[in-house]
Amino acid sequence: MNLILLGPPGAGKGTQAQRLEQAHGLVQLSTGDMLRAAVASGRALAQQAKQVMDSGDLMPDDIMRQIIAEQIDGINSGFILDGFPRTEVQAEALDDILQKKGLSIDAVIEIRVDEAALTDRVVGRFTCAQCGAGYHDSFHRPVVEGLCDRCGGSEFLRRSDDTAEAVRTRLHAYRRQTAPILPYYRKRGILKGVDGMEDIDNVTRQIEAVLAHI
Ligand code: AMP
Repeated sequence: MNLILLGPPGAGKGTQAQRLEQAHGLVQLSTGDMLRAAVASGRALAQQAKQVMDSGDLMPDDIMRQIIAEQIDGINSGFILDGFPRTEVQAEALDDILQKKGLSIDAVIEIRVDEAALTDRVVGRFTCAQCGAGYHDSFHRPVVEGLCDRCGGSEFLRRSDDTAEAVRTRLHAYRRQTAPILPYYRKRGILKGVDGMEDIDNVTRQIEAVLAHI
């Protein structure tokens, strides 16, 4: 099973992708995580990626196509694309890559959210550096301050693009460049919407209901 998760920043794509990965033995392919790893390791792309990501703009399509082509080449199981494609050019490039490998996308899940809620959801979020569990300053603090509920880790990470200003640009990029790819998948009958304003477990249940019918 190969899936795409679509939705604006803060919709919960990463959280749901992690859950699907565990429940269905899929591999999460998060282009944002790949770029953050490149930035952290200081590899060739690091400087450009850091600048672009911190501003909230998108990286160039040809770089993203190369990154995702390499990743898809290296896996033998089903996958969940989280953060790719983000433009019409990327959607077409993905079809090309998949076609060459005799693969296809089974479902594109759009996590729909009220835009007014997004800035509050994104600004203030942090994750455990050890296990990746997600938290939020206002909505979900660890039970014991400073310790991860899941693994007891005491180090936490915040994304440098989770600022109000970068979120504005990221939302703008979503509306202008990513939302226009929805009709591309709707026409094929593989676009499925879920209500991302529900709590995390209910969003997972909605996605599972979609997957039960593909
Ligand atoms: P994300 O973790 O998916 O929110 O991605 C964080 C940032 O990485 C985005 O705001 C972009 O700057 C960059 N990025 C991730 N995926 C892509 C993509 N498919 N195309 C262009 N830029 C991307």
